[in-house]
Amino acid sequence: MTAKILDGKAVAQQIRNELGPRVARVRERLGRPPALSIVLVGDDPASQVYVRNKLKTAEEAGMGIAHERLPATATLAATLAVVRRFNEDRTVDGILVQSPLPKAMGADAEQQVFDAIDPNKDVDGFSPISAGRLVQNREGFAPCTPAGVIELLVRSKIPIEGKHAVVIGRSDIVGKPMASLLLHKNATVTICHSRTRDLPAMAREADILVAAIGRPAFVTRDYVKPGAVVIDVGINSVTSPEDARRIFASYPDRLETFERRGSVLVGDVHPDVAEVAGALTPVPGGVGPLTIAMLMANTVKAAELRAR
Ligand code: NDP
Repeated sequence: MTAKILDGKAVAQQIRNELGPRVARVRERLGRPPALSIVLVGDDPASQVYVRNKLKTAEEAGMGIAHERLPATATLAATLAVVRRFNEDRTVDGILVQSPLPKAMGADAEQQVFDAIDPNKDVDGFSPISAGRLVQNREGFAPCTPAGVIELLVRSKIPIEGKHAVVIGRSDIVGKPMASLLLHKNATVTICHSRTRDLPAMAREADILVAAIGRPAFVTRDYVKPGAVVIDVGINSVTSPEDARRIFASYPDRLETFERRGSVLVGDVHPDVAEVAGALTPVPGGVGPLTIAMLMANTVKAAELRAR
């Protein structure tokens, strides 16, 4: 069997196109477009790329953007002050503080910052209020990555109700909200993590398997029931030639990318899973583009709620 490839890029484009008329209506009612403010602290290269992509997409969607950069030496108090300023600003609809914050800011800095974001502007959906609303299936902002996975499944006409969904990973930003969203779509949900016993056997029970682990090519074909739908949330940069050769032994084009760039992106799912799964998201071009599209959708929603 060769898995059907679920084209996240195309679905993300579709979502963004649908936002166009909604952006125009907000503009009519508020006299300005929906506006997203992004706070970036420090100079983590991956975060800079993520923020650049988010700003570019927001701009292309005709949204208002503000970008506040703080140095890596910024204090937690300074970061919280920026968040509070955006909370008070009536021309800001959505606030996003790019994770991770610099380690020097303290172990619970991220939690304090997410706690401080006005829940009505929490377009990343990371605040405890948003998390509570999601668990109770109330109106609010779901974290963008798992929300994007649901959009991909629904728009690809993959049935969720009554299916057994297994989510590997229990983080607050992917695994747990993913499980809640699947549950609200009436899947039977199992959450697995690093202490799960016999993970491959557990994963093989899945009709829908979601991998959100952060380990390159971790989910191999023995984790997958033939015909299952496999969603690869992981984004890992492989920089060691040994790892690249081991993972991409049968994929000369990917090895060629590695030779050219010195690194290659791989998900949490081994590419060979395509021979067993019924459907599979690619990396790159699967879940990643949906995350940004859902951030735009959440920002438009925040502006619509304000306009009401
Ligand atoms: P975290 O590190 O916060 O969580 C990883 C989870 O995987 C944990 O629950 C951990 O279990 C579990 N895990 C780790 N090792 C194992 C193992 N050997 N067996 C079973 N479970 C294991 O990561 P995130 O949830 O933030 O992200 C996961 C992946 O998704 C990363 O690759 C990240 O880059 C990617 N990502 C992609 C996005 C996108 O836009 N596509 C957006 C966000 C993340 P435990 O809790 O027991 O430690």
